[in-house]
Amino acid sequence: SAHTAHHSAGPKKIAVLTSGGDSAGMNAAVRAVVRYGIARGCQAYIIREGWEGLVRGNATEPTPASSRHPSNVASPAINAALNPRSVGFGQMMSKLSLDNSDRPDDPFGSASAQNAWTPMAFDSKDPNAIARLSDAPLSFGYGGLLRDGAGEGDPDELAATFSDHPPTIEDEVDDNGRSLKDRYIVRVGWDDTRSWLGEGGTLIGSSRCPSFRTREGRLKATHNLIKYGIDCLAICGGDGSLTGADVLRGEWPDLIRELHANGTITDDQFEEHQHLNIVGLVGSIDNDMSMTDQTIGADTALHRICEAVDSISSTASSHSRAFVIEVMGRHCGWLALMAGVATGADFIFIPEDPPSGDWEEELCGVLHHHRQIGKRKSIVIVAEGALDANLKPIKGDYVKDILTKRLGLDTRLTTLGHTQRGGKPSAADRILATLQGVKAVEALLEATPETPSYMIGIQENKITKVPLLEAVAQTKAVAEAIENKDFAKAISYRDADFQDMLEAFKISSSLSQADHAPEGQRLRLAIIHVGAPAGGMNAATRQAVRYCLARAHTPLGIHNGFEGLLDDNITELTWLRVDNWTTRGGSELGTNRTLPNVDMGGIAAALQRHKIDGLLLIGGFEAFSAVTMLEKARKDYPALHIPIIHIPATISNNVPLTDFSLGSDTSLNVLVSACDAIKQSASASRNRVFVVETQGGMSGYLATLGALAVGAVLVYTPEEGINLRTLLEDAEFLKERYKLDEKGQQEGRLVVRSEKSSSVYTTDFVTKVLKEEGKDLFDARSAQLGHTLQGLVPSPLDRTRAARMALLSVKFLEKHAHARSQDYTGRRRTADLPPTDTAAMIAVRGSKILYAKMSDVISHTDVKLRRGEDVWWYDIKRLVEILGGRTGLVTSL
Ligand code: ATP
Repeated sequence: SAHTAHHSAGPKKIAVLTSGGDSAGMNAAVRAVVRYGIARGCQAYIIREGWEGLVRGNATEPTPASSRHPSNVASPAINAALNPRSVGFGQMMSKLSLDNSDRPDDPFGSASAQNAWTPMAFDSKDPNAIARLSDAPLSFGYGGLLRDGAGEGDPDELAATFSDHPPTIEDEVDDNGRSLKDRYIVRVGWDDTRSWLGEGGTLIGSSRCPSFRTREGRLKATHNLIKYGIDCLAICGGDGSLTGADVLRGEWPDLIRELHANGTITDDQFEEHQHLNIVGLVGSIDNDMSMTDQTIGADTALHRICEAVDSISSTASSHSRAFVIEVMGRHCGWLALMAGVATGADFIFIPEDPPSGDWEEELCGVLHHHRQIGKRKSIVIVAEGALDANLKPIKGDYVKDILTKRLGLDTRLTTLGHTQRGGKPSAADRILATLQGVKAVEALLEATPETPSYMIGIQENKITKVPLLEAVAQTKAVAEAIENKDFAKAISYRDADFQDMLEAFKISSSLSQADHAPEGQRLRLAIIHVGAPAGGMNAATRQAVRYCLARAHTPLGIHNGFEGLLDDNITELTWLRVDNWTTRGGSELGTNRTLPNVDMGGIAAALQRHKIDGLLLIGGFEAFSAVTMLEKARKDYPALHIPIIHIPATISNNVPLTDFSLGSDTSLNVLVSACDAIKQSASASRNRVFVVETQGGMSGYLATLGALAVGAVLVYTPEEGINLRTLLEDAEFLKERYKLDEKGQQEGRLVVRSEKSSSVYTTDFVTKVLKEEGKDLFDARSAQLGHTLQGLVPSPLDRTRAARMALLSVKFLEKHAHARSQDYTGRRRTADLPPTDTAAMIAVRGSKILYAKMSDVISHTDVKLRRGEDVWWYDIKRLVEILGGRTGLVTSL
């Protein structure tokens, strides 16, 4: 049609903004949208200060393409002379070169303007091709920086324009005190998001924008988007911000009609911008959005809370004090709940599940009981938005007074406040934001006028795309349900994770006898650790013990693995004994690699001697092998006709079938902190490549996800191995990359190498090759992380996941043990084999958490290489390299 003929076939322009309250990981999301957008052949823009920036737009207009003239174009020499003086946001800004509309352009910074331009070829087979912008950054061209002719041709003037700090709307001035109020829509290149992964908050600014709530404001926003030719918009914010996006999209046809009618936009612009594509990324520390398990920033906030509560715990214990800790969460108790589970708090208050009736009495009863059996400290966590059953707010100081007056406890109140928003993003948030940013770009490129606006979410481990309005509506429905005191409904709208965690918390903090199993149905359940230690093993054990006690089962700890079992090294675990175990790394029970086949008869005899009704194994590949052996041996030993469940726990995350193992998140966080420090050192010396070696056995999980979280440019894994050819190509790639860095501003770069990637091309070897090939372009060093990767204190995610898995595991044992005792007293004889689904592993797979039979697990196993066969993260190696600047790899992820 005439329309399509008219439509310009230029690159798509994708803009990204952050809005509402800030959260850690927003920068990683922006970086991913920018870089992946560029890698997919789009032009990338950032919009500063959220919707406010879009409404305000830029003071100076971009020059229409038709009126561009070479004489308006700054010379490459000027670009090259630009010497960025600032960091952070300033760095981003100063890295932008002048408009080069008639000149092929340069994503990596101005120095590279002198390099010959090569277009980015998506189908290129050249592994060393480097991502480049396809044409010039427009935004910094004729307007903005060169406003009113000031500074034209004067590189210093340009470089001085941005201060070290992300400017806020109110006080943006440059070094010379001039206002910067006039540029909010900025074309960005590849290197403008350099080192953003590890930065907290949002470097492009965020705000609340009342005017965007008005049609007038949105009309301005529409005009601004059209001016810059932007038709794809990614918004990272809370439900309000995303609602605003959908309102804009819904009104779009009407808005452009008005702009066209009153002559604000041309016929061409009107035809070209018939549709606006939007996508939402949820940035919120509260984790308050429905239809996604995890929002960007929630995990980091939980890190901050757990660090604080852990610190408070020791002093509380010393002085036998009670602490009431107030955490954020206006309408959502996620942070308070997870913190309660992760730190082993005594009591929590959350809006979704208010205490009923005389809660003061209940609270005092619980804390008193805990004290009676020997606890020296009491921790109560109160969500900011906590309510009682009559919707009356429950505040920290009130709770404190109750504990002081009624129990006579020396009670202190700590309000964590904005510390929760701060700090470096956790590994999980960096990964989540990056994967979601990539998915957001895909969603924008796939969008058609008919598709709904999507929100990018995550369900268990699957990145999802859900209708934005539905998610917002469901989020609002939670608040409404709370208002209507329909708390069961409110909780039902939260994800499965939330519901399990709430149950886990209640069980683990309770000493009530209400849920005791009747006499005759009480079981003796044993817990054993197998293999290398991993973060979360103790937390899982604690939860299993507490569950057993709540049901009047007997929890038995087997010490030192199967060797310990053969030696009758078994004790009953008490409520108090496991109290502090959420925060403990390593293995409190003791663990080793011995498998039951050392003496299967002896193992069976020991289980019989101790009258074990069910067995919980916590460990990695060895634990999985042990369960397989025990199941096979059932035909010979009736004592093994008991339900057996395995919780995967290993930093390598090499247990087949499951997407996650306990301990791997703790490890990733250790790796991220270590690599951040290494990268800082590498960047300080300007031209250094660090080859960082990780553990991980024959699995490249830790290396790959770690590389994604720290922004490494290359990763070597045992799955892909290393050969001479790839090594050479990689050295070439690094050379190309360093050539594009501005002189004096070269970046430190990381290469992550999993220790078993190759027995010949060792870390030392790779480092030497890079050093030799790098010559005067770059230097190379290596660092080995080794056993530090097991971590000290388990991460909040490992602790909470441990609690959930333990809860589901003991329920499994209970269910099958009861089924068995019924069968056995009835028609079945003991010699009959129990069904195969009574020996299982609890696994997270894609969007599901499930009990997997051993035969299912085995069918996904590469036994020789001790790892799973079809891993979810296989493509991420490619993504690491794409986001590291390598092209020729992009098809579709
Ligand atoms: P947080 O989780 O921090 O509350 P949020 O995105 O929900 O984040 P809001 O203050 O609700 O924060 O919204 C941020 C901005 O989004 C508002 O200032 C406004 O500009 C825009 N916005 C919110 N709701 C709407 C709406 N219904 N229509 C248009 N714009 C809206």
